[in-house]
Amino acid sequence: MAKQGNIGVTSENIFPIIKKFLYSDHEIFLRELVSNAVDATQKLKTLASVGEFKGELGDLTVHVSFDSDTIKISDRGIGMTAEEIDKYINQIAFSGAEEFVEKYKNDAAAIIGHFGLGFYSSFMVSKKVEIVTKSYKEGAVPMKWSCDGTPEYTLEETEKEDRGTDIILYIDDENKDFLNKDKISSLLTKYCRYLPVPIAFGKKQEWKDGKYVDTDEDNIINDIQPAWVRKPTDMTDEDYKKFYQELYPMSNEPLFWIHLNVDYPFHLTGILYFPRIKSNIDLHRNKIQLYSNQVFVTDSVEGIVPEFLTLLHGVLDSPDIPLNVSRSYLQS
Ligand code: ADP
Repeated sequence: MAKQGNIGVTSENIFPIIKKFLYSDHEIFLRELVSNAVDATQKLKTLASVGEFKGELGDLTVHVSFDSDTIKISDRGIGMTAEEIDKYINQIAFSGAEEFVEKYKNDAAAIIGHFGLGFYSSFMVSKKVEIVTKSYKEGAVPMKWSCDGTPEYTLEETEKEDRGTDIILYIDDENKDFLNKDKISSLLTKYCRYLPVPIAFGKKQEWKDGKYVDTDEDNIINDIQPAWVRKPTDMTDEDYKKFYQELYPMSNEPLFWIHLNVDYPFHLTGILYFPRIKSNIDLHRNKIQLYSNQVFVTDSVEGIVPEFLTLLHGVLDSPDIPLNVSRSYLQS
């Protein structure tokens, strides 16, 4: 039976806020949805490792695809039951919403992060969003949630063979430029390049009879084990230099590097490179990249990373860095 309801926001309505204020960072919707898909997959792996999930994990690749109207993100993670959709999607519990939004109205990322609105960032670019999901739990009934950008949603039973979640975004007229292979590709490379679960976008291509054609093989856009998460003892000098070139193509070789793994006072991993400086331009071009659990956050590190470190290059990753990190947020 179909169910209708209102999304539980205490403030008037979150959608105008999302649409109106969150203009500058529209592109992060893809990062948020792919990260959710990866989280759901990691959770299933954890359940399997403690014996709570006894089924076949199978291929856990997250798939991103698009057509002329939609973008779809599919995972084979834990999925959601109807109760879980209610709890995690419908009940956006927050307090003090109005003051917060007033204070940060020009800071999209801060608002999204504060309310845990990762999923709702999809409404920045969509006129309608559907969730088709089936929980890993035995006997789970597949559910379809649909919402057209008003606080009303529908939730009904649906058909879905496989466990996991499909998020389908019906892209609105102002954001049609996201329905483009190169655009999606570049966003995936920017934000998802080092995520810990394989992410497929389209097929690998090969050169045949004078043009590129799709092969049967998925085009995996990420490296699930980037250099900084590997053990230093497993890394050769060549590996470090190769990673540097990957981060900053066509740069001079670094002088040396340090592989960080700090547990206290906060958890931090990363690799910092000491550059061979030829001119000041080099200094500013190759910026330190900040990650949170392998998700790219920013390379605008002023005010986040101590000034003297900004002369270095490389990657810092800390789960303590909120995805919504931004200067105004930090100064609050
Ligand atoms: P956050 O990820 O910060 O918790 P979100 O708004 O992005 O906030 O998601 C809210 C919740 O919805 C998640 O915590 C998770 O429980 C659930 N969820 C979102 N996407 C998925 C998915 N692809 N598979 C399973 N659960 C999901």
